[in-house]
Order: sequence, then structure tokens, then C-alpha cells
Amino acid sequence: MKLICIGRNYGDHARELGNAIPSEPLFFLKPDSAILPPRHPFYIPSWSQEIHHEVELLVRISRNGKSIAPEFAHRYFEKVSLGIDFTARDIQQMAKEKGHPWEKAKAFDGSAVVSNQWISKSALGVPWEECRFELLKNGETVQSGSPTEMLFHVHDLIAYVSQFMTLKMGDILFTGTPAGVGPVQDGDQLEGRLERQTMFKVHVHG
Ligand code: ZN
Repeated sequence: MKLICIGRNYGDHARELGNAIPSEPLFFLKPDSAILPPRHPFYIPSWSQEIHHEVELLVRISRNGKSIAPEFAHRYFEKVSLGIDFTARDIQQMAKEKGHPWEKAKAFDGSAVVSNQWISKSALGVPWEECRFELLKNGETVQSGSPTEMLFHVHDLIAYVSQFMTLKMGDILFTGTPAGVGPVQDGDQLEGRLERQTMFKVHVHG
């Protein structure tokens, strides 16, 4: 399975990093080896001085599809969840400046937190497009967002990505992060909440 990650899908986050608002979705992949095993701490890699948290709504692909039309995209996922796209911002910045790929900054071991709870779109208590999620760092909310704030709707993301690569059952889409990204350090406790329900807790080790 693959993890497909959308970049710059919230205007306020694109602006906080000084990036242009994209005219079409931007995506990259993480391998399945990037998934942080459940209940494992996140170890800051020795080769980065600046690991950022990016909390993101996750969508799990429920059937195989290619060149999916936006109006049919809703049939390709049943459940949503929450995760973190850990990013080595210093390494990513160097890669951007040189025009190099982002894998070292984005696809390293442990860089993908995936909650082990998946919630049916219809079981969130609100229409899934209106759900709210947040990331707490040491008990304080540092990021919060909702699909209502996305630049590209999840259905359009599925349609877009599936033009280039077949989506397979079990693939996970990271739908981009809202503003408030920032560095993690040894001892930090991260907690993700979706509609006030705790979806994951991650302890950071330096
Ligand atoms: Zn991200």
C-alpha cells in the first residue's frame, strides 16, 4: 500500500511557509515503511535539527480505481481518520532550494502517524466535510482544521491523483495540513483529536 500526501491544501498553511497558493493539487508519496508502529514513540532522527508536526485528516481508499471522476470519488472511501505527516523542514528547505525530491524530508521511518481508529463518514456526528480536527502539543491546541477550509475538496484530490496513479484498496490519502505547524522536541506529547475524540497520542524522544 502507499501513502499519498497532499501539500499546501490549506491557504493559511501555504502562506505561513511563504509558498504560493497552488493552482492544482500537489502530492508526494511516503512508503509503507514510514508508518510509525502503533503506540511507539517518535524518535527525532539524528540528521535533522527541525522536525515539524503536520496534523492531517486521513482518507482510506476502499476500492481500486483509476481516472476517477470527481462525482464518483465518494464511492472510493468509506472511512476517515487522523494522522501526522512528520516533516524534516530543514532537509525539505534544502531540497526545495536545489530542486531535489522531498523523500529524505518526508518519507523517513516513523514519519507517518496513522491512527488505528477509522470512523465511517456517516458516524462522525456531523457531515464528514464539516468535521473538525486538532493537534494538541503538551495539552495545548497548536493546529486545528476542517475539510471546509481545504483549497481542494477530497473528491477533487482523489480525481486528480487517480489520473496519474491507480488508487488501490488500503491506500491512505493524507489530505494536507492546516496552519500552525511547528517543531517537536524531546519530551513533547502530541495528541490528535477528531470531533473531540482522541485518535492518537505520540510521545516524542530526542
Ligand atoms: Zn503534510
